[in-house]
Amino acid sequence: MTDTVLIAAELAELLDPDPVPGAQVAWLASGSPTPAGAYVGLVPLLSRHVGAAELERLPQLRIVANCAVGVDNVDLAACAARGVVVTNTPDVLTAATADLTVALILAVTRRLKEGARLVEQGHWTGWDPRQLLGFELAGATLGLVGAGRIGRAVGCRALAFGMQLCYTAREAKREFERETGAARLSLEDLLARSDVVTVHVPSNATTRGLIGRDALRRMKRSAYLINTARGDIVDEAALIAALEDGRLAGVGLDVYQREPFVPDALVRHPAAVVLPHLGSATVRTRRAMAGLAATNVRAVLAGHPAVTPVGA
Ligand code: NAP
Repeated sequence: MTDTVLIAAELAELLDPDPVPGAQVAWLASGSPTPAGAYVGLVPLLSRHVGAAELERLPQLRIVANCAVGVDNVDLAACAARGVVVTNTPDVLTAATADLTVALILAVTRRLKEGARLVEQGHWTGWDPRQLLGFELAGATLGLVGAGRIGRAVGCRALAFGMQLCYTAREAKREFERETGAARLSLEDLLARSDVVTVHVPSNATTRGLIGRDALRRMKRSAYLINTARGDIVDEAALIAALEDGRLAGVGLDVYQREPFVPDALVRHPAAVVLPHLGSATVRTRRAMAGLAATNVRAVLAGHPAVTPVGA
C-alpha cells in the first residue's frame, strides 16, 4: 500500500506539485480535526495542536514536520515517546521575521497607526510642526529578549539605525557581542535600560508569561514593547493595563495569546500596532518553509536523518 502524508491544505500552492514522490498526499483543511488513519507523515500549520490524542489516532506516524520554527503547538515529549520525529523550519524565515520586527519598531516609535488614521478619516489639515512627534531610534537602546537567529538578525538591522544593543541569553553570544557591541544583561536590567524591548524567545514552559506585570513595571514609561515571537510569552491583560495606565509608550504585536482573537483594547489603542501574525509572510519565505517541511518528510520516509530535527 502507498504511504500517505497529511499536509495542511493551505500549503498546496506553495509546494511543488509532487512534494513527496512515492507517497500520496491527503490535504488537511485548517478547520477540520486531525483525522485518524495510517498516515506516515503530518505537515501541520502552527495553529494545529499535535498532542497525545492526535498521535493516538495516527499509529503509523513517523514524522511531524511543523511548518514553523516554533514548535509550541507540538507535544514534543509525546512524539518522542512514540518515536515520531519532529522537525521545524529554522533559518529560512529569519530575515523575513527580523524585517517585520523592524517594521513594527518603526511603526510604533514613529506613530504610523495614528498618522494613517488621521489621513484615512479625513482629519489631516496640513503640515504642523507639533503633529504626531515620535521617538528617534539613533542613540536609543534596543533590548533583545532572546538572541537566537531572529533576535540577532533584528539586532544587526537595528545597528543601521544607530541603536545600542543589549540582550538576554542563557549563554553569552560572544561573536554577536564582538560584531555589534551588544551587552548581555539580566532580564531585569535589560527591561530597565531599554527604550525598545523586543521579544524573541520561543514559547515553552519557562518563557510563558515571562513579560508579565512585574516585567512591564520595570520598563521605562517612555519605552516600547515589540513581540513577534509568541503571544503567550507576554501577559496580554497586564500589557493592556500598562498601556491604558500610560506606563508604556507603545506596543507592536504580531502574535497573541488566543489567535486569531485580538483584544479590542489593543485594536483600538492608538499606540498599539497590531498585525495578524505576518512575521514570515513573504512569498519567498513561505515557499521555503513549505519546501523545508517537505524535505524533512522525504528524508525521514527514506530512512535518512531529518534535516532540521527538534529535540524533546
Ligand atoms: P532560536 O534561534 O532558537 O532563538 C531563540 C533564543 O531564545 C535562543 O537563543 C535561546 O537560547 C533563547 N532562549 C531564552 N530562554 C529560552 C528558553 N527558556 N527556552 C528556549 N530558548 C530560550 O529561534 P528563532 O529562529 O530566533 O525563533 C524565535 C521564535 O520566534 C520562535 O520560537 C517562534 O516562536 C517565533 N517566530 C515567530 C514568527 C512570526 O511569524 N511572528 C516567525 C518566526 C519565528 P539561549 O538563551 O541559549 O540563547
